[in-house]
Amino acid sequence: MSKPAYTSYPFICRSCLASGYIGAEARPEVCLECGGGPLVVHDELFSLSMAHIDCDAFYCSVEKRDNPELVDKPVIVGGGDRGVVAAACYIARRYGIRSAMPSWQAKRACPSLVVIKPRMAHYQKIGRQIRQMMQSLTPLVQPLSIDEAFLDLSGTQKLHNASPGLSLARLATRIKQEIGLTVSIGLAANKSMAKIASDQDKPDGYYVIGAAEARSWLASRPASLLFGLGKSQMAKLQAAGIQTCGDIASLPEGRRRALLGSDAGRLVNLACGIDPRPVVPHSRAKSISSETTFNENLSDYAALAALAETLSAKVSRQLKSQNRAAIRVVLKLKFANHRLITRSRSLSAPTQMQHDIFAAITEMLKLETGKGQSYRLLGVGADLDVLDAPETNIAPVSLLDLVDEKRQKKNKLEAAIDQLQEKLGEGVLKTGRQFKPQDKP
Ligand SMILES: [Mg+2]
Repeated sequence: MSKPAYTSYPFICRSCLASGYIGAEARPEVCLECGGGPLVVHDELFSLSMAHIDCDAFYCSVEKRDNPELVDKPVIVGGGDRGVVAAACYIARRYGIRSAMPSWQAKRACPSLVVIKPRMAHYQKIGRQIRQMMQSLTPLVQPLSIDEAFLDLSGTQKLHNASPGLSLARLATRIKQEIGLTVSIGLAANKSMAKIASDQDKPDGYYVIGAAEARSWLASRPASLLFGLGKSQMAKLQAAGIQTCGDIASLPEGRRRALLGSDAGRLVNLACGIDPRPVVPHSRAKSISSETTFNENLSDYAALAALAETLSAKVSRQLKSQNRAAIRVVLKLKFANHRLITRSRSLSAPTQMQHDIFAAITEMLKLETGKGQSYRLLGVGADLDVLDAPETNIAPVSLLDLVDEKRQKKNKLEAAIDQLQEKLGEGVLKTGRQFKPQDKP
């Protein structure tokens, strides 16, 4: 008589949050404690501690939470007829609707589509609440955007009296109960694999990729999964018949550089499931500013605005070079008697653009000048968005850019000016405002 072959399966129950080992002949589907599930079952479930958490269809889920009539309807958050889709709910996605698609096209694909104007400040507030919950698990939280973050939970077992995997399941339940939104969790051995994992089981997902299986898990999957693979690299790979992560992992040394450029080493590692990057919580500068003291005191709005424009450009250049974004603009003025005042204005969405910064500055400057005062110093400052992600090498795209055509035009113009200045030097272009009488030919 042969004994049945029992295996011990590490598990977490998403319903009752029971956790431990189930001895069974086959992978268990139902929780022994509550009879429900779903169960997260994985050999490495209790040894992995790197996670990526991503809210499910965040903007749309917030709108549905706030207005239950929308729950069963196809919803997008985005611009009017001329704007684009900023976010699409899962029902809308069934019609092929995706982010960045023009709104009219989305409407045509789904005539019953509900289009909602973005409420960025509201989403940001909720994003912060969720981030605070994440930070209650570990100080090692690295936000990638308003609704997603990496968490390193190594060393937290004793503190929470739970494995990292169980702490994450508890967190998801808490976010559901207290905020009313679902998140998807990816648990893996490193950041790259955790990010890929969180996308596998959406919405309300929990997906585990172990260290031992990472390379074989990736082997048959598309190369486009790999983080930071650019369009031109993708085109080269496709032309060379390379489609999967496995293809990249097994590229001969000589061809790697030709196909992937200077980034080859990192990308081949990612394709093998290797990613040594640590989770870096934000501890960087919280503001950038630039100021100038005048030779003679100034009281004229036009003269002050011209200087403010130059300083706005300086701040914008620093934001762009550091890949940061401003969420608040600060005007600093020093009176002739050395008294200093600051005025600040919050922006409706994070930005790096000079025209946004300058627009906010001029509004404040107009209110302060014309009171007969004269000034000896002007400063332009930007308080920074802590949600931006320098390591992604992707400029933070403002939601406003997606929904506002005028802004898109201004952005394009500014990008062209930036390019010229990079080539020819900063003094090459001036606006009419920045010309001083002596500059005139
Ligand atoms: Mg998300």
